[in-house]
Amino acid sequence: MQYLSTRGQFANRSFSEAVITGLAEDGGLLLPRAVPRIDRATFEAWQKLSYSELAFEVMSRFIDDIPTNDLKELINKSYATFTDEQIVPLVHLGNLHILELFHGPTLAFKDIALQFLGNLFEYLLDRDDGHLNILGATSGDTGSAAIHGVKGRERIRIFILHPHKRISEVQERQMTTVADDNVYNIAVTGTFDDAQAAVKTIFSDVEFKKTHHLGSINSINWARILAQVVYYVYSCLHVAVHEKNRAVAFSVPTGNFGDIFAGYIAKKMLPEGSISKLVLATNSNDILTRFVNKGDYSLGEVVATSSPSMDIQAASNFERYLYYLMDKEPDLVREAMLKFSVDGKLYMHNYLAHIKRDFAASAVTEDEVQETITRYFQDHRYVLDPHTAVGVRAAEQHRDQGVPMVCLATAHPAKFPTTVAQAVGQPPKLPAVLAELEGKPSRCEVMDCSVDVLTAYIESHALKGS
Ligand SMILES: *Cc1c(COP(=O)(O)O)cnc(C)c1O
Repeated sequence: MQYLSTRGQFANRSFSEAVITGLAEDGGLLLPRAVPRIDRATFEAWQKLSYSELAFEVMSRFIDDIPTNDLKELINKSYATFTDEQIVPLVHLGNLHILELFHGPTLAFKDIALQFLGNLFEYLLDRDDGHLNILGATSGDTGSAAIHGVKGRERIRIFILHPHKRISEVQERQMTTVADDNVYNIAVTGTFDDAQAAVKTIFSDVEFKKTHHLGSINSINWARILAQVVYYVYSCLHVAVHEKNRAVAFSVPTGNFGDIFAGYIAKKMLPEGSISKLVLATNSNDILTRFVNKGDYSLGEVVATSSPSMDIQAASNFERYLYYLMDKEPDLVREAMLKFSVDGKLYMHNYLAHIKRDFAASAVTEDEVQETITRYFQDHRYVLDPHTAVGVRAAEQHRDQGVPMVCLATAHPAKFPTTVAQAVGQPPKLPAVLAELEGKPSRCEVMDCSVDVLTAYIESHALKGS
C-alpha cells in the first residue's frame, strides 16, 4: 500500500516512511492511496478472532512493508499491556453500548494507538539503525500515553512539555513518575497554547529538526488512525451479533477529528451498511459541530471545559476528511487549507449535503455533561468520564429506532475526579495504576517557555547518532 499527501506533492510513500515522516513535506497529511474493501464473507469470518488477531487482519491490509510475523508480534506486544482480557470490552447500558477504550497503561483511549506506535517506532529504528528524539506538548492525556508508549526504548528519547501547574495532578503524576532515563518532562510557564506554539516553532526550523532527528507523536500520524480503525470493526462484529442487526451507529467525543476519522475509514472499508451513522460529539468548543450542521468551519476562542482533551478549535485531522469531501483533488485541499490558515475560517455550504451524509453532530454544554453523568450513575450505577458523557449525550439525540448505538468511552472516570465527584456525590474509585502513583518519586524540569531555552535543553539532552 502506498501513501500520498492530501496536498498532492508526495504520492508514493511506503507505510514505514509515512509513519516516520508524520507530516508530508508539502504540509499535507498522509493517506493510503485507496481504502481496501472487505467483502461480507471475510468480514463475518472475523467474528471468531481475538482483538489482536482482528487488529492484524485490519492493519495488514494497509501495511505491506513489514513481514507478517513481525507485525503480529508488534500487535501482540502492544495489547499485552492492557488490563482487560477483551482489550476493549463492550458494556450494555439501557439502549446504548459503551465501548471501554481505557484499559491501557494511562487509562485513556490514546494508549490503543500509542502503545502500538511506540513498538512500531522501535521496530523501524532497529531495522534501519536509526534514532529519534520525540518532541511534543500536551494538555494532559497525549503526553502520558506517549511517554508510556516509548519509555525505556534505547533508540528513542522523548521530551514532553506541559503547562506548569495547569494540568490535573493525576495527569502530571502519570508523566513525572516514569523513571526511565529516556523520558524528559518539561513544565513550562504559561498555557498549553504557549507550549504548543513553542513546539511548532522548533519543528519549523528544518535544519534543527533534521540534525536532531526530531519526531512527533501527535494525532496526525497515520499509524495512530490505523490502530483506531480496529475497534470500530471489532464493535460492528460484536454488537451486530448481540443485536442480530447488521447496521451499527457510533457516537464519538471529538477534538482533533482523529478518532472519528478512524470511524470514517472503517465505514469505507466494511461492507455497505455496516456503519449506519457517525455522530460527532463536541463540548462547547464546537467548530466541528458547526461545520457538520451549517458548513461553517470558523475558529472561535478555546474555552476550558470539564472535558479538556477536547478543548480544541483547529482540528489537526480535519484536512484528511477534506481530501475525501473534495473528491480527492489535492489542489482544492491545498487552496482551502491555505485560505483557512490566513482567514481562520472556511464556509463550505456547497458541500453541506455531502457532509450530512457522512456525519451527524451535536455540541454538549457543561450542564448537560453533569446531568448525563448523574443520570447514568442513578439509572445504571455506571460512572462516565466527562469526555464519554459528551458522546453519550449526543448519542441520545441521534439514536435511530432499531439501530444499535455504540458510544466510545475515551477515558477512565478516575482521571477526572473533580467533575465526577460533583456529578455523582463521591469521588471515583482509583484503579491500582493510579493509586500506585501516590508517593512515587517524580522528576520534572521547570523552564521558561522560550524557544531558545528549550532548544538549548534539547540540544544537550538529545540522543545523537553513532
Ligand atoms: C484525545 C481525546 C479525545 C479526542 O480525540 P480526538 O482524536 O482528538 O478526536 C477524547 N477523549 C479523550 C479522553 C481524549 O484523551
